[in-house]
Amino acid sequence: MVANASPVVCATCEREMNHHAEKLVHPTDSVDDGYLDPILGGIVEEVHACPACGTGASRRSTR
Ligand SMILES: [Zn+2]
Repeated sequence: MVANASPVVCATCEREMNHHAEKLVHPTDSVDDGYLDPILGGIVEEVHACPACGTGASRRSTR
């Protein structure tokens, strides 16, 4: 699994967040089709956490 090169920045304190997990999300809308991983059968969502304030964020992984 290859992570996005660009870091996620915390919306609260603007620190670079740690990429600490990936989870599989099942698509619920046709908009999601572009993100669908045909091998995994779902959408890979990256989970990020801020080391400074603990804020969590997630985004869809693009390949
Ligand atoms: Zn933060």
